[in-house]
Amino acid sequence: MTIGLFGGTFDPIHFGHLRSAVEVGEAFGLEQVVLIPAAVPPHKGRGAMAPAADRLRMIELAVAGAPGLAVSDVELRRAGPSYTIDTVRHFQDQLPAGDIALIMGLDAFSEIDTWKFYREILAAVAVIVISRPAHHQDPGRSARARVESVLAAVFSPEAIEATTEGFRAEGLKSVTVQPVTALDISSTRIRQMIGAGRSIRYLAPAAVVAHIQAKGLYA
Ligand code: ATP
Repeated sequence: MTIGLFGGTFDPIHFGHLRSAVEVGEAFGLEQVVLIPAAVPPHKGRGAMAPAADRLRMIELAVAGAPGLAVSDVELRRAGPSYTIDTVRHFQDQLPAGDIALIMGLDAFSEIDTWKFYREILAAVAVIVISRPAHHQDPGRSARARVESVLAAVFSPEAIEATTEGFRAEGLKSVTVQPVTALDISSTRIRQMIGAGRSIRYLAPAAVVAHIQAKGLYA
């Protein structure tokens, strides 16, 4: 049984996240994709976020009734910043016989060498990198080439074995690039649109849009 862990700020969750979660779940036959909102994301240097309780609630609303999707508040219950290594260890303890895959966008993967204990993470779990629409990436290079150059900076380039699915190396369980339907939606853009008084209808589930309106978030 493999569980996919998909972390992020989810401020707010949108269809880019949700569609990616569904497609990765299907492509890898995952038992479940667990969306995990971060408490204080160590990599996001921006100011105020919506309260954690609202970000969690919006994910709950978004995945309600969706087969194969779940939400975990494990990072919100931990004190201090959320580190993926702690979350991985938590799920390893919960599912001793299970396998864990970490799902992340190429933008997140490109910064993996800034993550706490990233070598331990790469050794312990399979990583699935989802490709995002072009303007978040280096337009001249494929997602696979970007992933390879990130890995080459961490391991020596000769140590990396390229397979049809992705990459392996000593100390690297596996990294696979998974193309998903390109939905050029970001939480930043959603927050900007709300701030500008524009509609975000059809960028996120209706229940999420309704929650944002009811709570006056991002206005
Ligand atoms: P922000 O604009 O606030 O930075 P975001 O929309 O990038 O937010 P995050 O919560 O930071 O959302 O994203 C969580 C994960 O989902 C990251 O790994 C990110 O790369 C990925 N992701 C976000 N939006 C998309 C999208 N439209 N398509 C595919 N993956 C996405």
